[in-house]
Amino acid sequence: MADNFKASPRSRVAQIGHFVDPAHGAIVPPIQFATTFARDETHELMGEFLYSRYGSPTVAQAEAALAELEGAEAALLYASGLAGIVAVCEALHKGQHMVAPRIMYHGAQSWMRRIAERRGIGLDFYETSDPKSLARVVHRETALVWGETIVNPTWDVLDIAAAADIAHEAGALLVVDSTCAPPVTTRPLDLGADMVFHSATKYLNGHSDLTGGVLAVKSRNALWDDVVVTRKYLGSIMAPFEAWLLMRGMRTVFVRFEAISAAALKIARGLEGNGKVERVLYPGLPSHPDHQTAVKQMSNGFGGMMSLLVKGGEAEAKRFVTSLKLFLPATSLGGVESLAEHRRTAEGPTSEVAPNLVRLSIGIEDGDDLLRDVEQALERI
Ligand SMILES: *Cc1c(COP(=O)(O)O)cnc(C)c1O
Repeated sequence: MADNFKASPRSRVAQIGHFVDPAHGAIVPPIQFATTFARDETHELMGEFLYSRYGSPTVAQAEAALAELEGAEAALLYASGLAGIVAVCEALHKGQHMVAPRIMYHGAQSWMRRIAERRGIGLDFYETSDPKSLARVVHRETALVWGETIVNPTWDVLDIAAAADIAHEAGALLVVDSTCAPPVTTRPLDLGADMVFHSATKYLNGHSDLTGGVLAVKSRNALWDDVVVTRKYLGSIMAPFEAWLLMRGMRTVFVRFEAISAAALKIARGLEGNGKVERVLYPGLPSHPDHQTAVKQMSNGFGGMMSLLVKGGEAEAKRFVTSLKLFLPATSLGGVESLAEHRRTAEGPTSEVAPNLVRLSIGIEDGDDLLRDVEQALERI
């Protein structure tokens, strides 16, 4: 590409690396599986890599693409989303304090509670929809404010700019889990967050065939240096094949997310007013309490995550899931295939989720088919 031609993020991610193999003219990058990298006759490393637990070329190529998409100085890929979250928590010391949303990704909150108790770290919770509740729990000891751009499974939306102001005023860093709002639609670092996290298992890869996580930092800081060291020692880095698959998935992240958002909005609108549904929770609907924040912060679609509170209780909600013909009954989200799950069953006995809530992850199937499927299943409850 000519030096003065700067393509948009959408074009750049569609052709990650704008690659042409000088040896063969191949336009798809190869996978570099090497675990170790040679030194020259002066004992200097020949390239920028030493050993694969620290970093390797295919992983670094995917990291560079992610850093660019997020507007970040650097990005790190992990073998799972949770491994990235663990690395952030690992940086906190006894006596420090962190805050997190009361309703958030269940697995991440369980880990935070465990590490806080074992290590003597203060942990308090706030309501994602209410910046005042965040202001009430941060104080001088607060090192970290954890937020989720859109929280699971109510889809309340965090006002990232407001949260960043509150965190920074207290001298804390804001780290945002933006798994449900990929950089196609929201770029948390542009809005004031210091670090952004994604489960790459979800929208970034988008095909439900790899587990991964990513952390990206606005500008390197002490927390980031700690996170780098932790990955080096734990070996929680993503493997080269997964990094390659992730790049393949990311090439279509814009078209997938746009198609998913269009179908989801149609389905959400179609279900509002359905006699078998008590409420549709979707941030793209004006009836959602955080719709205005979503409009302000999501520039390219509201995504594919919604919850239905079906009329009745747990039995009706479960019957609805098993009556679906096209949606697959499974956990996870952000893939090309639509999924439905009874969320309380997935979270287990400590779950605070309403018994009549069913979580839907909309895929790229025909939106009319998906709506018809939901309607016929609702008829059977
Ligand atoms: C799935 C998910 C995670 C955890 O990521 P894994 O890839 O499953 O380890 C964290 N946050 C959110 C919002 C998620 O949906």
